[in-house]
Amino acid sequence: MRRYQGGCHCGAIKVVFESAVEPADLEIRACGCGFCTRHSTRTITDPAGRLVLHAAKDAAVTYRFAMGITDFILCGQCGCYIGALMEDGGERVGIVNSRMLDDRTIFDAPATSRDYSAEDEDGRRARRHATWTPVTWEHDTDTA
Ligand SMILES: [Zn+2]
Repeated sequence: MRRYQGGCHCGAIKVVFESAVEPADLEIRACGCGFCTRHSTRTITDPAGRLVLHAAKDAAVTYRFAMGITDFILCGQCGCYIGALMEDGGERVGIVNSRMLDDRTIFDAPATSRDYSAEDEDGRRARRHATWTPVTWEHDTDTA
């Protein structure tokens, strides 16, 4: 497994993405929705990998829109968009914004444009179960 660490600009939210896939073989996705185009997101995922997000107390802002099944995670202090999470059947899966990783330049290859606007909710959940990364989502509850 390769291990990529990172986080938001101010450091309140930390990210670890693990994947056995060669970096050049990880598809970089540019989702075409109104949120992702505003942020110019370049996301990566590996369903056989692992994504750990750790937020300091009260640091994370979660934003939902459209179907309302996805938590878009932003830092409430510095405004960085970290990635998106979805909970389904007791399991949490997600994607990470590759720009949040310390080694972000590894993922500078052109992104694949994706348009998911035609999906219904069942289709969206099924696709994400197949392609998104299992997530561990940790929040501090006390000030360190
Ligand atoms: Zn921050």
